[in-house]
Amino acid sequence: MVWGGSSVNKISHLSDHGTIASRRSAIRPYQLGPTASREPFPCMTLCGDCGYLCAAPPTQCPSCTRKAWIDLGYTAYAEVLRAAETEARRHPPEALKWRIRLASLTTGGAIGLGGVAGVVLSGLATLGAPLVIALGATAVGFTHVFGRHQLGRSIMSAKVTRPMRWHVPLPLAHPKAKPAARVVGPVRPQGALLRAPFSGRMCVGYDIGVLFDAPGDAWPPIWVLREMHVAAFEIEGREIAADGASLALPILPVLEPAMDHDRQVRFLRERGLFSADGQFDLFEAIVEPEQTHELLWPSAPDGVPPVLHAAAHQRAKNPYR
Ligand SMILES: [Zn+2]
Repeated sequence: MVWGGSSVNKISHLSDHGTIASRRSAIRPYQLGPTASREPFPCMTLCGDCGYLCAAPPTQCPSCTRKAWIDLGYTAYAEVLRAAETEARRHPPEALKWRIRLASLTTGGAIGLGGVAGVVLSGLATLGAPLVIALGATAVGFTHVFGRHQLGRSIMSAKVTRPMRWHVPLPLAHPKAKPAARVVGPVRPQGALLRAPFSGRMCVGYDIGVLFDAPGDAWPPIWVLREMHVAAFEIEGREIAADGASLALPILPVLEPAMDHDRQVRFLRERGLFSADGQFDLFEAIVEPEQTHELLWPSAPDGVPPVLHAAAHQRAKNPYR
């Protein structure tokens, strides 16, 4: 068996979650008085240090080992977090800004060249460097000013990166992990199925993402949530416990969610998000029972959960198999 580059890439993408740790604003639970207002329904708990989200927190965070739990039910905590996220959205990472500038350049450049061809063919001017530079620069400038939000949006919605809050099976695969073992076969549930939150479909596992966009923002939307859950299943004789595997499936927008508006507002609030703040786009991927998938075990670290891929997709992308 020869492993192609795509297998390694598929495992290493999960390490993206590790990059979110350094940009949390500190919330000090002791600053909140005993009379602080709290939602009447239970909300989730967030690690203030790395963004790990869970319903019932253990003593220390299973991701970063710190003890910085924030009960998102307290309005004051959720609002401090909201302010920090608003600030983060105003300052996208440099790498993303450059990707958007480059996209403006290529898109605007193509439009500019189209303009040059049109002007020359219509006989309004002769082809020359000043014409190409003038029209090219204008088109690039317009594309960046008026199109960068849309360009940024299409870049961001391609893949969940740097989610502000997240829950995935731990530990995360090491960025340089290699595929150590693999099986391919139908995914057979070993108990009750899960209900995917957005589409309402019954499944063996789901991966959801929420992309947040604010009206009038110049810079792109950000991922505010990634959440993954897997029921117990069996594949080719290997038994996997509940939440004992990660998913690496393409997540797609859910345009008509099964949950009604009130349920959606509460779902977001349970996670410290306020639906009145802007537009929340819902994305989801599911593992359907009995569908054939590929399960890959990363080589590091010890105890890392295996990663479930779409088998046909994997074969199509990997020329070495
Ligand atoms: Zn943590």
